[in-house]
Amino acid sequence: MTDRSTDNTTAQTHLELQNLVKEYPGGTMAVDDISLSLPRGELLVLVGPSGCGKSTTLRCIAGLEEPTAGDILIGGESMVGRRPEEREIAMVFQNYALYPHKTARQNIGFGLRMTTDLPDEEVRNQVERVAETLGITDLLEKKPGSLSGGQQQRVALGRAIVRDPAVFLLDEPLSNLDATLRTQMRTEIQQLQRDLEVTTVYVTHDQTEAMTIGDRIAVLRDGHLQQLGRPMACYREPANRFVASFIGEPSMNLLECRVAAGDEALVGPVAYPIDDTLAAAAAEADGRDVTLGVRPEVPTLLGPEEDDSGPSFPGRIDVVEPVGERSFVYVTLDDGPQLTVAVPGRPPAREGTPVRVQIPRDGVHIFDGQTGEALHHPAHSELEGRVPTSTPGGD
Ligand code: ADP
Repeated sequence: MTDRSTDNTTAQTHLELQNLVKEYPGGTMAVDDISLSLPRGELLVLVGPSGCGKSTTLRCIAGLEEPTAGDILIGGESMVGRRPEEREIAMVFQNYALYPHKTARQNIGFGLRMTTDLPDEEVRNQVERVAETLGITDLLEKKPGSLSGGQQQRVALGRAIVRDPAVFLLDEPLSNLDATLRTQMRTEIQQLQRDLEVTTVYVTHDQTEAMTIGDRIAVLRDGHLQQLGRPMACYREPANRFVASFIGEPSMNLLECRVAAGDEALVGPVAYPIDDTLAAAAAEADGRDVTLGVRPEVPTLLGPEEDDSGPSFPGRIDVVEPVGERSFVYVTLDDGPQLTVAVPGRPPAREGTPVRVQIPRDGVHIFDGQTGEALHHPAHSELEGRVPTSTPGGD
């Protein structure tokens, strides 16, 4: 196994996108100047809402789309202009794209037969080795129609990895599976990718999937790269309001307010004292509109009479959603906006109850009201190292 804690700055770049642009006929700018580099063996997730350019980026890497501008390098060599089969990539799609009239064995072996002149026996050996890795040896003589969704996806993965690709591309590979199988396959793909040490780009619109599977994630919006970093770094230090609200479930609360007196945020009737760590940003934003970002896990709910030592906002509980080990409490503040608060265990109070939402001063993010950029973001993105194997998604 490669050492996944290797620092990005020293690890050898294996796949690189340089100022990639893809404009479709008709003027849709699907990918707008994206640059990324992956060290060998990394699993990078492209994540973002539908239509943000994830699949187009992947299809450009695969050679299924020709970029309008920019370059794609694998092992330092430009791939632009090369046919897909000349790129040493393997791709797995959401819909599996298996040949219905071929058995699993024939489906897995097909690519090998087309792209190599290996003797039949060697093809058979390799197919069986891959089938064993994926736990589908018993299914090799079956056709896709008699396989479950999860089994079909394993065959599709087998067909991709049997070719020992330099780069592995996965486009929403789990979207057609039910929730339980999706979680199981997510772990399997992660393990497989680590065992094979193959540089991988994985596309999903699901931020939970991205957070749990990626060594790093690249968050896209409207064809633009918003942030590139380890999942927990993007969670803890979102570069802008979009990443802040896209990453994390439930979403970060965003409170529109104005900075006053150089160190307060006026949220309705409450003058919220901005933390000293944000003093410089607050002073610079004095008199301007900003957005305060508060993760649902951060506030504490207090009864109206409870002592509070920190800043708090009066409000009323609208809805309580118990979800097992924690509850989501939706509170409407006296001046209007609604906040989601995640509390451990059972709901603390009933719907309709007056509460105060206490938000610790060091628990907020602050975003420019105009641009949405984090005012205190320490330019995490390109400084990110690799995630240690033992804590996928951690930092
Ligand atoms: P995602 O994978 O993030 O959902 P896509 O890469 O599929 O996004 O699409 C990005 C944008 O490009 C969207 O606006 C989409 O409508 C547009 N698009 C995708 N494929 C084509 C195409 N073949 N022709 C024209 N526009 C396209």
